[in-house]
Formats: sequence, structure tokens, C-alpha cells
Amino acid sequence: MSYTAWIISIGNELLIGKTVNTNATWLAKKLTLLGYDVRRIIAIPDNEEDEVEVFRDAIRRSIRVVISTGGLGPTFDDRTSEYLAKALNRRYVVNDDALKLVTETFRTKGLELTEPRLKQAKMPEGAKPIPNPVGTAPGIWVEESNTVIIALPGVPAEMMGIFENYVEPKLREIGPRLHFVERSITVKGVPEADLAPIIERGMKMSNRVYIKSHPKGHEIRSPLVEIHVYVSSEDEKAAENEINRVINFLMNAIKERNGEILSQ
Ligand code: ATP
Repeated sequence: MSYTAWIISIGNELLIGKTVNTNATWLAKKLTLLGYDVRRIIAIPDNEEDEVEVFRDAIRRSIRVVISTGGLGPTFDDRTSEYLAKALNRRYVVNDDALKLVTETFRTKGLELTEPRLKQAKMPEGAKPIPNPVGTAPGIWVEESNTVIIALPGVPAEMMGIFENYVEPKLREIGPRLHFVERSITVKGVPEADLAPIIERGMKMSNRVYIKSHPKGHEIRSPLVEIHVYVSSEDEKAAENEINRVINFLMNAIKERNGEILSQ
């Protein structure tokens, strides 16, 4: 089994230089951490010909995981789901589970269920909706031969929310067997904004490391931040060594900035 992956970034704004493709970079890092071999990142406009062609090409090449972002919203030009159905030669239908998710989301947000909003419950036949903890459009999980296609919204917070809550655990399950280790350190006295460049350098220490910061205190008055480090490796010992190396780097850099490590 090969664990190849493609990332397909859909949106005209990416191709005219209006939006920086941060979604693709973030997904590439995550997929690499999960042990997938990202072979292509493709940016295409929101049009039928380009979308159908790229999804079909991925299936024809048996790419294991294909993740697209963009074009899942309620407006007339958000048509990823419809073009995906076309690429799969499947009907584009209202999905009962998606309809429940969408109806519930609109009800709790007190929004009216209009025709364009209902469109977010339409998917290729046989697809599964993925709950969106941040916005309204569910993600789409659909399998065809050896390929899993996952369509996510373009808004970064929604894309990341769906990925971390639902997609990442599934991709771990069907991905290569890896050892994952995670550790946290709590830092006092350095604002999150000043930790950002340190975290960025830590992330660059290995392609199998992911670092996340969670602010706990007040950003300026009494900064308190929890830093969470994840590492994956084929080998348990190597994963341990790697996480120690990253944690040591972070602790030294934080101490240089007069930060205090409260716990690790
Ligand atoms: P929605 O309808 O909720 O906006 P959508 O799935 O239709 O979601 P798009 O309309 O394609 O998403 O994009 C929404 C916004 O998300 C864009 O205006 C842009 O700011 C941001 N965005 C889209 N794609 C990317 C990307 N690849 N990287 C970073 N930001 C992106």
C-alpha cells in the first residue's frame, strides 16, 4: 500500500494572487506528520473543467488521499461538491445525514433555512458528510476505488476545525503505522506573539513535528501559554529522541527570552 496524497486548492482568488495558499501549507505539514507522501499541491480556479479533470486524474493514478479546499459555501459559484459528483460519475443528491447536520447548525445559529443554504446538504451519491464545528458547510468524505477524497471549506478556521476533529483521526487509522508522541510545556512571561517565531523554528527542525500554542493567561499583562508538541516516526525510540530535541530547543529559546517554564 502506498500512502500518497494530493492537495487541491480551489479558488480564483488563489490564482490572481489575492489569497496566500496557507491551507495547502498547513495540510501538507499535517499529512506529512501522519506519514503520507504529499506528491502534488495543485491550485485551480472554481470551474467545472479544471475540477473534474483533477479529481479524475487523482483517481486514475490511485492517489490514496486527496484533500480539496474551497467552494463548499452556499453561493452560486461554490460548486466543488457538484463537480466532484460529476468527476465520480455519480448523482448529485441531498444527503440525509448532511441535511440533519445543516438543519441543526442553522437552527442553533437562529438562521433561516434558505435554498442556497440547503445546497450545502447536496453531495455525490454515497458520500459521507463531515461535521463542521466552526461554520455551516459540512465537509465531504467520499471513496472511489483506492482513493479517498475529502472536500473541505476554504475558510482556514473551518478547514482546520474539520480536519483536526474528524479527518486527522481517520487518516491516522487508514495511514501507515507510525509512533506518535506528544508533550506539552507551559510557559509564563512570554506573549504568544513572541513565541510564534520560536515555534516556527521548532517546526522546521523536522518534517515530522507539529507544534501548537494555546494561550491560557492574558496576552500582555500575564502571558501564560501551553505549547503542545507532536512528533511521529516509524520508530518509537527515534520519535522519543526527536521530541526531546525539539522540547530542548524550545526550552532554551524561551529561557533566552526570560520566559519561565512552569511544567513539562
Ligand atoms: P465559504 O462559503 O464559507 O466562504 P468556501 O468553501 O466556499 O467557504 P471559499 O469561498 O473558496 O470557501 O473561500 C473562502 C475564503 O477562505 C476566501 O475568501 C479566502 O479568504 C479563504 N481561503 C480560501 N482558500 C484558501 C486557501 N487555500 N488558503 C488560505 N485561505 C483560503
